[in-house]
Amino acid sequence: MRLILLGPPGSGKGTQAQRLVHRHGIVQLSTGEMLRAAVAAGTPVGLQAKEIMANGGLVPDEVVVGIIADRIEEPDAKKGFILDGFPRTVPQAEALDELLRKKHLKLDAVVELRVNESALLARVEKRAEETRARGEEVRLDDTPEVLTKRLAQYRSLTEPLIHYYSERRKLLTVDGMMTIEHVTREINRILTALGALEPKDHEDHAPKVAKKVARTVKKTAKKTAKAAKKAAKPARKAAKAPSRAKAAKKAAKKAPKKAARAANARKGAKTAKKAAKKLTKKRAKR
Ligand code: AMP
Repeated sequence: MRLILLGPPGSGKGTQAQRLVHRHGIVQLSTGEMLRAAVAAGTPVGLQAKEIMANGGLVPDEVVVGIIADRIEEPDAKKGFILDGFPRTVPQAEALDELLRKKHLKLDAVVELRVNESALLARVEKRAEETRARGEEVRLDDTPEVLTKRLAQYRSLTEPLIHYYSERRKLLTVDGMMTIEHVTREINRILTALGALEPKDHEDHAPKVAKKVARTVKKTAKKTAKAAKKAAKPARKAAKAPSRAKAAKKAAKKAPKKAARAANARKGAKTAKKAAKKLTKKRAKR
């Protein structure tokens, strides 16, 4: 996936880019970050950019285009990238088109984060506060004065890109005033609908996930069946109990009759014995 995030300073490009990186495993290419690193390292580009950046101006097109041209050649950019803060001018956009054309690469989409300008100052102040709280150095250009200048630059030099990409049917606009989570969801929804999220992103993991789910389901079913069998044991016993009780009751009911019959039989035998004795005596007398 190759994507451009477009929006004024403080619109959330960096935040959203990081979230996309996290989810889709592609790199974030932020020209602002690269330039800040160059300034910190004191490279020739850094020395050239330092003053311009501190004043809220734009670094010359050929400098940033050169940085991007080198960066997209690196192996980690092969799978795709999110451009954050580049292009910022029409000549930069044209140079990017040319770079991609030469490499036979396609730009999937340009996502514009649309925000109310009135919210930007508060956002940038918040970013500065959070940076300070983390004990990190606050950006020199995150001040109300420089922000005003950066916004003016955005309006005059970067905003024409909305028309540029809209004409090329690449532009998608997202309401950047929603929560961070909502904006991410909306971007993902758009990218999925576009088919920009390569099938790999979803399907590569699908068989693995399906197998895992099937394994878990099977395991759970086995466990459940075992537990059900165990639970059914006393129930089966209980189920047998009434029939046993019935049999006992029946037997108990029959018992007196049986006993009476036995007593009768015993009585009869006694009587018969007595009668036999009497008969023997009588015979003997005779
Ligand atoms: P950013 O971090 O994107 O807000 O960029 C910080 C500063 O770096 C900008 O105000 C510019 O001075 C410079 N910069 C970053 N990207 C570009 C670009 N594509 N073209 C010109 N200047 C840039």
